[in-house]
Amino acid sequence: MDDKEVKHFYNSKEWKHKRLEILQRDLFECQDCRKRLRDAQINRIRLRGDDKEIRRAVEVHHIKELKEHPECALEDDNLISLCTQCHNLRHGRNPKRFVRKKKLVSEEKW
Ligand SMILES: [Zn+2]
Ligand SMILES: [Zn+2]
Repeated sequence: MDDKEVKHFYNSKEWKHKRLEILQRDLFECQDCRKRLRDAQINRIRLRGDDKEIRRAVEVHHIKELKEHPECALEDDNLISLCTQCHNLRHGRNPKRFVRKKKLVSEEKW
């Protein structure tokens, strides 16, 4: 899949439908937050601040990357509900909005 196909996929009716289905399946709870809490409980680790709670899931992540595995794009087992923070962590990236903002500032002409 190339970028154009990915974009097209995320705009498709099938994806919007499936995305909601997965969020509902996961009760709109971030599954990585849930895991973090469970692990902390088992290992008796103290979590701080934000990390103490399960954040609301707003994004659905492809465990096998969409670009590499388009055949798993709509498979329940390949999809997981995440909050923005955990989703960014999974992709090892900074929050998109922040990066974009920063870029804009540096590109501004005086
Ligand atoms: Zn989370
Ligand atoms: Zn993702």
